[in-house]
Amino acid sequence: MSELRELYQQLIIDHGRSPRNFKQLPDATHIKEGYNPLCGDELTLYLREEGGVVQEVCFEGEGCAISIATTSLMTEALRGKTTSEAKALFEDFHQLMMGHEVDEERLGKLRVLAGVAEFPARIKCATLCWHTLLAALKKSDDPVSTE
Ligand code: ZN
Repeated sequence: MSELRELYQQLIIDHGRSPRNFKQLPDATHIKEGYNPLCGDELTLYLREEGGVVQEVCFEGEGCAISIATTSLMTEALRGKTTSEAKALFEDFHQLMMGHEVDEERLGKLRVLAGVAEFPARIKCATLCWHTLLAALKKSDDPVSTE
């Protein structure tokens, strides 16, 4: 295992064990639940948006290390982004999961999840929070499920 890969692995384990922004957000403007029945990952995403800018994102839930780590990294990445930047980030992340080349600078820390692309069964664990985010931003009433 290369040094970089090991570093990536460490970061995923760290975020999986002690997720950031793992709490309710009392003044959330958007709340959405997401579910990945394939793995059993469940999360509730809380988002506070003001003037088209994501001020804060928090979450609660249960799931595998990949789903928790991805959601944790996502909440950090979204803070201060406009809603269209947030959607663009989702696109970048999706490309990463497809194993495609992406602008690593734009992805920031999220690029540590590149290895997930090699495990198709885990991709849904990593994209659940993003689908939930998108539904939250759209204020969609449809349930979010990866199936
Ligand atoms: Zn999972």
